[in-house]
Amino acid sequence: MATAVYPGSFDPITFGHLDIVQRASEVFDKVIIGVLKNQTKNPLFSLEERVDMIEKVTSDIPNVEVVSFGGLLVDFCKQVGADVVVRGLRAVSDFEYELMMAQTNKELNPNLETMFFATSARYSFLSSSTVRELAMFDADIRQFVPEYVHRKVYEKLKEEKLTV
Ligand code: ADP
Repeated sequence: MATAVYPGSFDPITFGHLDIVQRASEVFDKVIIGVLKNQTKNPLFSLEERVDMIEKVTSDIPNVEVVSFGGLLVDFCKQVGADVVVRGLRAVSDFEYELMMAQTNKELNPNLETMFFATSARYSFLSSSTVRELAMFDADIRQFVPEYVHRKVYEKLKEEKLTV
């Protein structure tokens, strides 16, 4: 039984992330979305808010679980009994960093594999930061995120007075 961890910041989760989750859920018995706690970057959404949004928009996929984590990814994988790390590859620009991470994690735990899913072409330009920026300029982000996330993004920007 193969369990995969799909780690990330998901600030917020987009259709690009969801596409990877959906496809990974068809390949692995179980997919644990690992939501990063200790980021160097200052996230727009708190950890609890990010977890809540991911839970809401993945509730229809039975073999997906959402768990937050801090510290080393290899330790988290051990803790939840995962054999594989899933990452999405959007463009060549993602490659160098992802390769370095995959090789480092392999050094730390030779039993842990990293598997990359090639982004669907329609989402290859999409990132959480693009969504946040577009929303700040009041652009329609409904084509990039689910309706629930769309609402939360606008609520948050209003609350933080971040709209222009
Ligand atoms: P991180 O802070 O680790 O980069 P992200 O939340 O930005 O976390 O991304 C998590 C994972 O999702 C990464 O593997 C990233 O490449 C992938 N990803 C991000 N956006 C997309 C997208 N539009 N399509 C496919 N994969 C994506």
